[in-house]
Amino acid sequence: MFESLKKKLSSTVGKITDKLSKEEEEAKKSEDQDKSEAAQKAGKTDTKKAPKSEVKQEEKSEKRKEKSDTKEPEQEDSLSEEMEPSEKEKKGLLSFVRHKTISEKDVDDILFELEMSLLEGDVALEVAEEIINSVKEDLVGRKIKRKSDVSEFTKEALKNAISKILEVDSQNIDELIQLKQKQGEPLKIMFVGINGTGKTTTIAKIATHFMEKGYKPVMAASDTFRAGAIEQLTHHADKIGVKIIKHKKGADPAAVAFDAVEHAKAKQKELVLVDTAGRMQTNVNLMDEMKKIQRIIKPDLILFVGDALTGNDAVEQARKFDDTVGVDGIILTKADADAKGGAALSIGHVINKPILFLGTGQSYSDIMEFKPEWMVEQVFGE
Ligand code: GDP
Ligand code: GDP
Repeated sequence: MFESLKKKLSSTVGKITDKLSKEEEEAKKSEDQDKSEAAQKAGKTDTKKAPKSEVKQEEKSEKRKEKSDTKEPEQEDSLSEEMEPSEKEKKGLLSFVRHKTISEKDVDDILFELEMSLLEGDVALEVAEEIINSVKEDLVGRKIKRKSDVSEFTKEALKNAISKILEVDSQNIDELIQLKQKQGEPLKIMFVGINGTGKTTTIAKIATHFMEKGYKPVMAASDTFRAGAIEQLTHHADKIGVKIIKHKKGADPAAVAFDAVEHAKAKQKELVLVDTAGRMQTNVNLMDEMKKIQRIIKPDLILFVGDALTGNDAVEQARKFDDTVGVDGIILTKADADAKGGAALSIGHVINKPILFLGTGQSYSDIMEFKPEWMVEQVFGE
């Protein structure tokens, strides 16, 4: 999953590291040249003591300015302070790196490249911009002590940016079910989203997921408009052995949902899963119909189901459904086939609602709870 996103991030780490190392080598070359020129000019005059105290002072003031305060480099500092300049010169590379502070110029072009490639990977514009700005903010001004710092800092900065983007307050459905149980009510979940995204399969997956936890769900076939929708959901319900409440095609979807809630109450079932007509989000009648279901059964959760493979389209659909009916959470389907990861990265941040589940395949057990830390691990892990 998300292989291409992973590649983009690690290639950015590589590029920034390479660029700064190259700069370091060049600076070292000119430093060496300066030194030999200075030595030639000075002839045999005493150059030993003056540079030593200069270097010392410089190091000390740098220490005061230091942003990061890890212990190890400090030890190195005191170690090198004790060294004679000649030994220090041998460690020329170390002494240069010690003086390097990452500037905006060092990272600008590479981060611009990253932004473009994130956009190509279906990351929403506002999200790509936020990532770049956050990385820049973290990196610019950081002092590099060792060569390995560059890649470490860059990876850290990217990880921080991605973590911030994925951070959205989430809900725990198990807790919600238990809360409702105490009130003697079922938890009512309404599923919205356009056709073909995997909505009916997802409803069956969610039913399976909670049946495995010991709960009893009932489905409501409230997509009474689309030909075949009732049959499609019935097919899934029969396969997993779940009760489905359905009326005839063209019936009032709110009435179907209402009946399903009554059924759950009568049979002490903990979950009502309501399918809705997945017409385009621009269809006014459909939106009115959804609002009617909302009014009649007052769902506890409205979950938007989107297809990860459609990238920015999924994000735009989520935005429209959220504007019209208000979305509480997101389920992204087909994550198993999604290399780009653009929708997974952007969708929650754009509508400020959590991704709760990822669809990861075609069978009923192919669903996983989404955790931001998991996604961070997925794109930065080995
Ligand atoms: P609906 O029209 O939105 O109800 O879509 P369906 O539930 O019928 O799903 C459309 C197609 O997507 C079906 O072939 C599903 O098996 C497939 N599908 C649904 N979820 C996933 C998923 O998470 N991964 C993969 N690979 N396929 C999925
Ligand atoms: P199309 O011609 O198949 O694109 O369908 P339209 O969007 O023009 O709708 C045809 C009729 O069905 C209109 O009277 C709409 O109000 C109604 N309609 C459209 N979408 C839905 C829906 O999702 N649910 C219900 N119940 N009616 C709808």
